[in-house]
Amino acid sequence: MSVASKHVVVAGGGVAGMEAAGALAELGHRVTLIEKEQKPGGHLKQWHALFPDRRPADEVRKYLSRRIDNRNIRLFTGVGVDKIRKEGHELCIELSDGSELTADAAIIATGFDLFDAHRKEEYGYGIYDNVITSAELEDMFNTGKITTADGRTPSRIGLIHCVGSRDEKVNNNHCSKVCCVTAVKQAIEVRQKLPGCEVFCFYMDMRMYGPYYEELYRESQEQHNVNYIRGKVSEASVNIDNRLVIKVEDTLAGRPLRMELDMLVLMVGMEMSKAGTRLAEASGLDRGINRFLETGDHHYGNNISHLKGLFYAGTCTAPMNITDTISHARAAVAEAVRYLNTR
Ligand code: SF4
Repeated sequence: MSVASKHVVVAGGGVAGMEAAGALAELGHRVTLIEKEQKPGGHLKQWHALFPDRRPADEVRKYLSRRIDNRNIRLFTGVGVDKIRKEGHELCIELSDGSELTADAAIIATGFDLFDAHRKEEYGYGIYDNVITSAELEDMFNTGKITTADGRTPSRIGLIHCVGSRDEKVNNNHCSKVCCVTAVKQAIEVRQKLPGCEVFCFYMDMRMYGPYYEELYRESQEQHNVNYIRGKVSEASVNIDNRLVIKVEDTLAGRPLRMELDMLVLMVGMEMSKAGTRLAEASGLDRGINRFLETGDHHYGNNISHLKGLFYAGTCTAPMNITDTISHARAAVAEAVRYLNTR
């Protein structure tokens, strides 16, 4: 069998899945890319601008669309992958519509779900109209209108970091890695679009691990006057004027604060996706301490599963940014090709 005739199934049509499918097709492999939503693109579909350079998310969306515009790729949408099992040298891929595919190799790229903010009741999401998530603020950037529920222009916005991450109460001990820099980016965007609006970020630690992140953080303070308060918000409520009120312990100043805000933005973290969880459970795949897929080796086998011919790409293994997701997907393709060439 020639290398070009190998068939690889990619489960998940977000950033990792699209990049993996494109890279495999470019090498001459036949690829079936399976996306449970009606359109590929994952969470990126919703994003307006990306950190650290605030480039339009559309540029990366277009790159990924071009990536899968290849005659070697079949795209199935509106259908999920239910189970992957090994039969002889092949993998059998069971789909949610009851059909089945066979493949020489497969890559799982089922991505992440954003933390459901309803689970942090103390912040009032779903109770108070002006408590929104970071994804919903991105929607506002897309529409060009940052307004309260009753149509007013906010004069004070607070952003709470670590919502659903680093939090034993919701069984998520991990850091989601991208939400600190997302908060910095969104805070700058609010200040640019609404110069009269004060912006406050409430954080535990500022985790600026990527290139240009620290510079963005500095820019937000020096050029855009974003306020950073180290402390944990204990609760949100509304006062008689229907304005949000938060209580926070300022741990640097060592004093409790009570602040009125027009809008509260919850920086929701990343969790293993429900679709990925179901697939892992049905297929008997190992998962790690924070329920993401457990890879063969954290240092030199970070795309490998315990099932021969099955590989992992992107945030189904751990939180990561788009740059790292694309690199991880390319590494998964390298592992898959090495497997296909040697089996
Ligand atoms: S990146 Fe920042 S906001 Fe997100 S979980 Fe880590 S410390 Fe919290």
